[in-house]
Amino acid sequence: MARLPRRCLSCGELTANRSRCTRCTVARNATRDAARGTTAQRSYGAAHQSVRRRLLPLAYGQPCPRCGATMHEGQALDLGHSDQAAKRARLPGDRIEHALCNRSGRFSDSASPMTLVLAPTRVTHPESPPGVA
Ligand SMILES: [Zn+2]
Ligand SMILES: [Zn+2]
Repeated sequence: MARLPRRCLSCGELTANRSRCTRCTVARNATRDAARGTTAQRSYGAAHQSVRRRLLPLAYGQPCPRCGATMHEGQALDLGHSDQAAKRARLPGDRIEHALCNRSGRFSDSASPMTLVLAPTRVTHPESPPGVA
């Protein structure tokens, strides 16, 4: 038996879904993901989540280990890894950092943003140019 279309709870469009149309469901999930971390982060599991919950309140007002800017309550903050080997082994992280910093991988632990900006882009070639006798 076909389900009668209902009105989406968010936008009022007719939908065959139970509560919201597909578009609003996707939008809601995206909002929830932004607040709680991505699906990938959630898949780290319960240990990861419990460490994150424990460390998160302590991180407010502290500098982000990646970019150095202060982390504030309400910002998207992720549980990150100071040890890349631990991350590769999919162990729970051990520190809180901005979600953006965590996901972008822009700043490694060894290179500060300043170092990256000042890094030389010109490569010198030791060999002499060809064709010159
Ligand atoms: Zn809708
Ligand atoms: Zn940061």
